[in-house]
Amino acid sequence: MSDYQTTPIRVERSRDTPRQRVSTSLDTNGSLGIGGVRNDWTREEIAALFELSFTELLFRAATVHRAHHAPDQVQFCTLLSIKTGGCPEDCGYCSQSVKADSGVAATRLMDVREVLQSAARAKDAGSQRFCMGAAWRNPKDRDMPAICAIVKGVRAMGLETCMTLGMLTPRQADMLAEAGLDYYNHNIDSSPEYYERVITTRSFGERLDTLANVRASGINVCSGGIVGMGETRADRVGFIHTLATLPRHPESVPVNALVPVKGTVLGDMLAGTPLAKIDDIEFVRTVAAARIAMPLSMVRLSAGRESMSEATQALCFLAGANSIFTGDKLLTAPNAGDDNDAALMAKLGLTALEGAEPLRSMALDETTVA
Ligand code: SF4
Repeated sequence: MSDYQTTPIRVERSRDTPRQRVSTSLDTNGSLGIGGVRNDWTREEIAALFELSFTELLFRAATVHRAHHAPDQVQFCTLLSIKTGGCPEDCGYCSQSVKADSGVAATRLMDVREVLQSAARAKDAGSQRFCMGAAWRNPKDRDMPAICAIVKGVRAMGLETCMTLGMLTPRQADMLAEAGLDYYNHNIDSSPEYYERVITTRSFGERLDTLANVRASGINVCSGGIVGMGETRADRVGFIHTLATLPRHPESVPVNALVPVKGTVLGDMLAGTPLAKIDDIEFVRTVAAARIAMPLSMVRLSAGRESMSEATQALCFLAGANSIFTGDKLLTAPNAGDDNDAALMAKLGLTALEGAEPLRSMALDETTVA
């Protein structure tokens, strides 16, 4: 089974542009300053970012972005579903839930060798990180040896690894850390208030517990959410506020636009309404607010990108998005496709990320100092 095209993403490495110096200072430059890393954001401050004129917001986000990241570089990640469908959770947006009538068939966990073959294709296609998702409430302990073998195998290929397997116990997080997992993805999805209207089978608090277990194990945290689920702007503020006030910001923050799938609760609820697609400008505002509130994190344009115009994606990059999923499929949802991405990167003059991510560099510095 292959979810991915093998056409390499032909992106030029930047030769003439000097590498952006990455600042890892922990100063606090004020709520709308250019780069102080803060964990004491208030909802009012985040809301004030959303209220700025679009031009002012983008200017500030771009200023913060270039203070910490190379503004012409984008990270390429590939996402593979290693266990699809049949999930007992009831996430209202997800076609893999047993509660959804979406026609997604349940599969078993993929064979280790099969996963490694997909990873090799992703690497050949120019991917830098291989993310793997399993539609589980949580992994069973009996699954852990195979999962750890996959992590070790993908890492041995020189790819970064990320897993999203549902809730993790501290022991499972430690096992993944020992296997060398670089990142664990566990999204908070939305504000605490709106979350409860989308998912009932596990609480927002349980999501935060898993993030804490991942953080304690030393694995880098990937956590973001979905916009366009019918939530209000106040919920988008609450979503960013939750992430930006974690004890340490996630190293990676995926921002998804809902892909409404027929048969899912949200897909059916929003179909034919004005809420069926998030407004492009509001989506860019959300990316910009995430960039300003979490200056050192990688902000990833994730699901929903294939239905975005090139101009909207360009605005997102200007607003501080600097990571994308490549390939023509994201788990079960369609994605932009490598050829389209290569053409867009060339058109925008963007190149593949070189060097370490700012938050991870900072962690290394801290280790060295300690
Ligand atoms: S989002 Fe994840 S946990 Fe929720 S139903 Fe889908 S696969 Fe299950």
